Amino acid sequence: MRTIESMRTAWPNRLLPRARSLARNHAVTLTIRTHRLDADVVDSGAVHRVRIDLPIWPEKTQTDAGRLIARARAVTRGLGPGDLPDALDAEFRQHGIRVAVALDQQTAACDCRSRRRPCVHVLATVYALTQLIDERPVLTIELRSSRAEVAEPTGAGWIALSDLDPAGLYG
Ligand SMILES: [Zn+2]
Repeated sequence: MRTIESMRTAWPNRLLPRARSLARNHAVTLTIRTHRLDADVVDSGAVHRVRIDLPIWPEKTQTDAGRLIARARAVTRGLGPGDLPDALDAEFRQHGIRVAVALDQQTAACDCRSRRRPCVHVLATVYALTQLIDERPVLTIELRSSRAEVAEPTGAGWIALSDLDPAGLYG
């Protein structure tokens, strides 16, 4: 969400409502691997391929995050699978762990010809990811870790490919 918010400041344009509507109407099919997102975005009958790279955390950050998550989970009751304790956000901040990827660290590519970057398809992909994270907060951690498993998303309109590379997941 923070990424989106900072985008809103940087790109106060008409692309955002259109990107949101694409994401809401399931025009975005996400394929999630650790530290990489691929998406097919259907826009006006054409399919555009989007790729967003998400840098993984340094080893120490991953270890710290894992420890904080385990501790927060131990003292929080009633967490569903895929959920994260609310207190974790503050804990992370205290330890200088940033979940969101700074815009200048993101590399996003789309095969469309739009000259606006990020284009509406990249923005729609980010919105779609945000929806998914809403349903399954732990995904934010998985995307930044080299060790985490990326479980299949459950929402309608999403597919998770089974071609996850075990070497990439556990290497
Ligand atoms: Zn595009």
